[in-house]
Amino acid sequence: MNVHEYQGKQILKKYGVQVPNGFVAFTADEAVEAAKKLEGDLWVVKAQIHAGGRGKAGGVKLAKSLEEVRQYADELLGKTLVTHQTGPEGKEVKRLLIEEGLPIEKEYYVGVVIDRATQRVVMMASEEGGTEIEEVAAKTPEKIFKEVIDPAVGMMPFQARRLAYSINIPQEKVNKAVKFMLGLYQAFVDNDCSLAEINPLITTKDGRVMALDAKLNFDSNALFRHPDILEMRDLDEEDPKEVEASKYDLNYIALDGNIGCMVNGAGLAMATMDIIKHYNGEPANFLDVGGGATADKVREAFKIILSDENVKGIFVNIFGGIMKCDVIASGVVEAAKQIKLDRPLVVRLEGTNVELGKKILQESGLEIVAADSLADGAQKIVELVK
Ligand code: ADP
Ligand code: MG
Repeated sequence: MNVHEYQGKQILKKYGVQVPNGFVAFTADEAVEAAKKLEGDLWVVKAQIHAGGRGKAGGVKLAKSLEEVRQYADELLGKTLVTHQTGPEGKEVKRLLIEEGLPIEKEYYVGVVIDRATQRVVMMASEEGGTEIEEVAAKTPEKIFKEVIDPAVGMMPFQARRLAYSINIPQEKVNKAVKFMLGLYQAFVDNDCSLAEINPLITTKDGRVMALDAKLNFDSNALFRHPDILEMRDLDEEDPKEVEASKYDLNYIALDGNIGCMVNGAGLAMATMDIIKHYNGEPANFLDVGGGATADKVREAFKIILSDENVKGIFVNIFGGIMKCDVIASGVVEAAKQIKLDRPLVVRLEGTNVELGKKILQESGLEIVAADSLADGAQKIVELVK
């Protein structure tokens, strides 16, 4: 799960990570009120969407007066911001962060991730702040420094110091940078983050070390123990199909293709996507209905697939092990009754109660193309959506 920048900053603040003073605003009036509460004569109006690259896309504005704060707030609220992270459809701005403008001396990058290779939390830092870290990694990988953190002892101060020196934080600010990094690490671990990216971390001309931006992602499987973070969830930022799927505890991820997939088991779901690709098709989603799904759950899953306008055909690929084929068949039939099934449907069923499942489908009067194997099913649906 993602949260907005202002929410991420609130969390970091609790861990001693310095962040600019600021307030969230939902209207231009609130934006001006927020600016009045902040000292100084420079404000930053920042679009709050779950995507980076806002600066380049015009989503971060420096205002030199309260009138400008209002003007930028008016401009940004309701605007669809297209950044390199939003996809071409962009994201509508519904919230703003009004922040004090800071005298930036230099921008750095600090990120915390879980590294698969070492199976540990890794903190990365670079002198090349403000730019895309992917770009730095591609062009000048020697400018990224890493510390692998031992979970038994946590991040050690010497590791933070080594990072701070490696990225050339000015000597007199190293202690502050160390405190910053240790706080960031603790926030990451305590809150079960999967990513914490501060781009940029800044030093200011008056000697401060601060997080000017904050991107925190949380492990969804650990949210049950962080009700406070779950409350920060902004459903407007998520794919409505995925939100619907999460209500029914379905493992669903929307993708860009046009073949809807209804599969049980993550492994089979991946294999199904692979084979669709192999025959030059494009899956519209990943969906694992799980082992113990009920007909209700299958029905909802099917409805979610059908609600996707890009879906030109559906491939149901079920291996009935724990999941029974007749349950899947009943769910599909029920869903098709509730929503007109106006697109081709290829079904491949194998395993427990397969005969009963096929019978339910045959007697439903639905137009179904039966497939004998994974490859056969994939070829048929790819052909039908052409
Ligand atoms: P994004 O990463 O989405 O582009 P950032 O929050 O990193 O958004 O902001 C982009 C740039 O805007 C920063 O690199 C920084 O130069 C400037 N900026 C952001 N917030 C402030 C602030 N409070 N004071 C001064 N400049 C800022
Ligand atoms: Mg940034």
